[in-house]
Amino acid sequence: MIIHMSRNAEPAHEQAVFKRIEAKGLKYEVIHGTTGTDVIGVLGDLSGVEESYFSELDGVEKVIRISKSYKLIARQYAKDGQVRDKETRAIRVGDATIGGSELTVMAGPCSVESREQARAVARYARGMGVPIMRGGAYKPRTSPYSFQGMGAEGLAILGEIREEFGLKIVTEATGQHRHVKPDGTQEDRTVLENVVAFADIVQVGARNMKSYGFLQELAMLTSEEQTPVMLKRGESSTLEDFLLAAEYIVANGNPNVMLCLRGIRAFEESKFQRYTADIGAIPVLKRETHLPVIFDPSHSTGYRRNVEAVALAAVAAGADGLLIETHGDPTRALCDGEQCVTESQLRAILRKANALREALRQTG
Ligand code: PEP
Ligand code: MN
Repeated sequence: MIIHMSRNAEPAHEQAVFKRIEAKGLKYEVIHGTTGTDVIGVLGDLSGVEESYFSELDGVEKVIRISKSYKLIARQYAKDGQVRDKETRAIRVGDATIGGSELTVMAGPCSVESREQARAVARYARGMGVPIMRGGAYKPRTSPYSFQGMGAEGLAILGEIREEFGLKIVTEATGQHRHVKPDGTQEDRTVLENVVAFADIVQVGARNMKSYGFLQELAMLTSEEQTPVMLKRGESSTLEDFLLAAEYIVANGNPNVMLCLRGIRAFEESKFQRYTADIGAIPVLKRETHLPVIFDPSHSTGYRRNVEAVALAAVAAGADGLLIETHGDPTRALCDGEQCVTESQLRAILRKANALREALRQTG
C-alpha cells in the first residue's frame, strides 16, 4: 500500500500514519519528494487493512493499494520529484544516465584475462563512445576446471583502465566467499567486499539471482553509497521471481537497481542458440517497475552472429541499455569467446542501435 501525503501535511500527521502502520505490525519506508510531499510505502501483509484506515487521517492525500508482491520497485510507487508514474528511475554512472533518454551501452570482455587484453578492448570501446566497460574478475563457471577469473588482480587491472580511459566499470560479485587463487590459497577479503569496494556498478549474475542472503548483504554493504547494482535474471527464473529478487535489494537499502535480461532456459539449447532471448519480457518489466531494463544479447544468444539482430530487437522493444561482450580476438577468449563480438561488429551494433533509438524517439 502506498500513502501519498498532501503538500501541507505536518510532521505530526505523518507520525499519526506511522503509528497506525506499526499498530498493525507493519513496516514502512518514506520517500521525501523534492517538491515537499512525502510518499510512504507500507510493507507487510495488508490483507485485513482497508484504505480508509489511513485515508481518514489528516494530511493523507491518497492511498493506493498495490496487490503485487513487489512494492518498492512497482511502477505505482512513484517517488515524487525523481520517479513518477510512466518514468524510469534514472541511475547516473559517470557521464551516462541509465534509464534516461539515451541508450546506454556497456561493453567489454566476458572476463579480464590480462592487462593487454583488457586494455585493447578498453581502447576501442572508449573510441566508440562506450561509457561503461564490463569485465569479470570473478567468474562463476559451470566446470571447476574452467578459468575462474583473475580475482583481485583482475580488479586492479580494471582500476587502471578506469583511470587511463575514463571508463566506468561494471563487474560481477559472485558471492560472500573468499576467492580461491590458482595457487590454492584464498584472497583476504570476500568477493563481495572486494567488488563493492571497487565497482561503479556491481553485477549480480544469473546464478546468484536467487541467493537471498547474498542480495541482502550486497544491499546493506552498498546502502550508504547506493552504488548501482545490475541484477541479471536467473536462467530459469520467472519474471515474478526476478522482480522479487530486485525488491530484496531495494528493501534492504539500495534503490539503485537495474534489471538485466540475459536469456532464459527453454527447450532450444543448441548449436543455434545458447539460451532463448527473452525480448518479450522488456515491455513487461517496463510496465511493472520503474527500474531501468538492460538487455544482454550476448548470453541470450550465445553466438556472435546472432548478437546484432537481437540487440536491435531489444532496443526496439524499449530496453534502456545493452550489455555486450566483445573481445579483441574472440577465438582466443578464455570465457564465452563464441558470443564475443569483434571490434568491427561492436561498432556496427552501436551505430545501428543508436540510430534505431533515435528514430523511435522522433516518432514518439
Ligand atoms: C556474464 O555476464 O559474464 C555472466 C556470467 O552472465 P550470466 O550471469 O548472465 O550468465
Ligand atoms: Mn560471459
